[in-house]
Amino acid sequence: MQAAGYVGRFAPSPTGRLHMGSLLAAVASWCDAKHQGGTWLVRMEDLDPPREVAGASDDILRTLEGHGLHWDGEVVYQSRRSELYKDALEGLKRNGRVFPCACSRKDLAGIAVYPGTCRVGLPPNKEARLWRFQMGEGALAWEDLILGQTSFEARSLGDFPVLRADGFWAYQLAVVVDDRDQGVTHVVRGSDLLDSTPKQIQLWSALAQLTSTDFHNSLPEYGHLPVLENNLGQKLSKQTLAQPVQVSQAMASVMRVLRWLNQPVGDGGIQGAFESGDVHQLLLRAAEQWDRSLVPTQSIQWQGEGQG
Ligand code: GLU
Repeated sequence: MQAAGYVGRFAPSPTGRLHMGSLLAAVASWCDAKHQGGTWLVRMEDLDPPREVAGASDDILRTLEGHGLHWDGEVVYQSRRSELYKDALEGLKRNGRVFPCACSRKDLAGIAVYPGTCRVGLPPNKEARLWRFQMGEGALAWEDLILGQTSFEARSLGDFPVLRADGFWAYQLAVVVDDRDQGVTHVVRGSDLLDSTPKQIQLWSALAQLTSTDFHNSLPEYGHLPVLENNLGQKLSKQTLAQPVQVSQAMASVMRVLRWLNQPVGDGGIQGAFESGDVHQLLLRAAEQWDRSLVPTQSIQWQGEGQG
């Protein structure tokens, strides 16, 4: 991949304010892109109105800016891109990679992996509630930018929704359609999304077939970052009551994230930028020295404010 061709992205869901875990993903993906002279896009994944919080999109964008994380181009909002997802679904219907499914949550209660009930057709007297993508067979492997060789058995993942029963587009479909449409070459995100990657690679392949694009040359590279966990081993999230980051603490938070990512913060350049009080300068120095191979592959434990 040519350095100039690097297109990275940060894709927050506006389900709450930015917390330290999402800041870590933003800083790492920004540094990875800027280290290679690349572009860094921001895409607002606002496809799940029931989970969204009013004002969160704007708040996230202001918080990114307040941390010196300036993006390239216009912010893309998934809620305005239904036509693209609809076209993709129609294409997948044509090439037989999706099927209507009648199974309700209740039908699947206690079942970890979709058992393929409606793959061969809807059961008698049942109506379609959602559409699922049909996973292939065998091992799905990729060379992760951070974790190295990574592999999942397709069977362990199961056929997943692309159009949900509540009528909203499913995350997997929208992400792949958008990453393709935006020419994303590098996806650097949290390891909590690790098992989404083989699903997205399969979807990417199916969509590439539809447009006769070269699948292997167009597929982005994927890198999965350590997640931040609280002292109960839970991923920092709105559900686990993660505190939002404060713009007034931007310098300290970025330094903390760089330390977690094992980047050399003792260096004179970084210290100088830190003392200057300009968070964007600090990020530029961090991007210059960014070394992806130092990023830890295990989760990071963090008790909370002041104890990092
Ligand atoms: N919107 C997803 C999230 O906030 C991230 C999607 C991605 O990076 O692929 O968890």
